[in-house]
Amino acid sequence: MTGEEAIKRAARDIAKAKRVVAFTGAGISVESEIAPFRGKGGLWERYNPEEYAHISTFRNNPEKSWQMLADMLTHIKKAKPNPAHRALAELEKLRKLRCIITQNVDNLHQKAGNTSVIDFHGNTRWLTCLECGRKYKLDDFSLEEIPPRCECRAVLKPDAVFFGEPIPMDALRRSQEEASKCDLMLVIGTSAVIQPAASLPIIAKRAGATVIEINPEPTPITGIVSDYLIEGKAGEVLPRIVEAVGKIGIRK
Ligand code: NAD
Ligand code: ZN
Repeated sequence: MTGEEAIKRAARDIAKAKRVVAFTGAGISVESEIAPFRGKGGLWERYNPEEYAHISTFRNNPEKSWQMLADMLTHIKKAKPNPAHRALAELEKLRKLRCIITQNVDNLHQKAGNTSVIDFHGNTRWLTCLECGRKYKLDDFSLEEIPPRCECRAVLKPDAVFFGEPIPMDALRRSQEEASKCDLMLVIGTSAVIQPAASLPIIAKRAGATVIEINPEPTPITGIVSDYLIEGKAGEVLPRIVEAVGKIGIRK
């Protein structure tokens, strides 16, 4: 579905839902100039993230991992929330969004003002020393010299979940609980293929929730797990949905 009808339908569904959860992926940050892994302009065209961002590569050859990390983090440091992030912050203010579960590690939902965010794959705002546990702020490094090192000289690792690492227990437990209790899930900018994140829309669907996708392209869950897809860029579609939800709220 595209256009005005789809926007109105989503706004009506959100307005009548009691517990709305947003599940976001790299696509929501594309309009903030952070490349996704897959698709056009994706990091995959230059690096194989499953190799460069695998925990065993980081442990054995951190300089290699930092080639890709420096590229990604330089963009993340500069990035600002786009209209899609801001629309979700507005939806929380309207008291129509319980939480965001994000696969992103860019901290942009928090920067946009959302207060209830589960960082499913961690957050690169912080870097940790795997040797001594000391923590540093990403903003304190220029990334001109890589890899960044701890005072103890060990290479620092961003607080993001690498391939081969488990999801932080608390984030996994809370996300599964939110997915199973929501009555509407917005699946925004994710191809929903990386596990276990990809199971969250399935949990929501099985529990009886309406699942709405916002993505310029169909995904493997379109029409199977999701009830409908609104085809378009998150930064164009979400502000219009949230504006329409606000208007329904006022009319009530
Ligand atoms: P993904 O599997 O979530 O795929 C990106 C999706 O976004 C695709 O389905 C694409 O069609 C869609 N998309 C592209 N532009 C869009 C737009 N303007 N609006 C809405 N949707 C749009 O992501 P991935 O890139 O394969 O990444 C896999 C993992 O790596 C995830 O955990 C992801 O969050 C993480 N990652 C995070 C960031 C970040 O923090 N910003 C960047 C790259 C990768
Ligand atoms: Zn250290």
